[in-house]
Amino acid sequence: MVEQKRQGGRTTKKDGEDIWLVLTESEGKEGVGFTHSCGEEIQGTSVASPIWDGPFRMSGSGRVHTQTVPFCPKCETPPDYHGAPIDVPYPGVANKF
Ligand SMILES: [Zn+2]
Repeated sequence: MVEQKRQGGRTTKKDGEDIWLVLTESEGKEGVGFTHSCGEEIQGTSVASPIWDGPFRMSGSGRVHTQTVPFCPKCETPPDYHGAPIDVPYPGVANKF
C-alpha cells in the first residue's frame, strides 16, 4: 500500500480568517512549536508568492511575498517553494468596502 501524503500548505477558514489546516490538527503554541496529531513536529518552509499589484491582471512590480508555511513532514508533502500569486486589487479600483 502506498502512503498517500497530503499536499502541505493548505489553509482553512476559522472565524472568517485563513489559518493553516495542519495547525488546526496540531497542538502547540506560536513561538514554541507545534506537534501534529501523528506525533511529528511541525516544520516550516519558505514559500514565495509573486505579488500582482499592477493595473492589469498578472502584472505587478515584481515584488514577492515570502512566508513560512507549516507542514507535517510525515503526513504532508512540502509546499511548493513557488506559491500561488497574490492578486492585489489595484489602488483606486478596489479600495471600496
Ligand atoms: Zn502528521
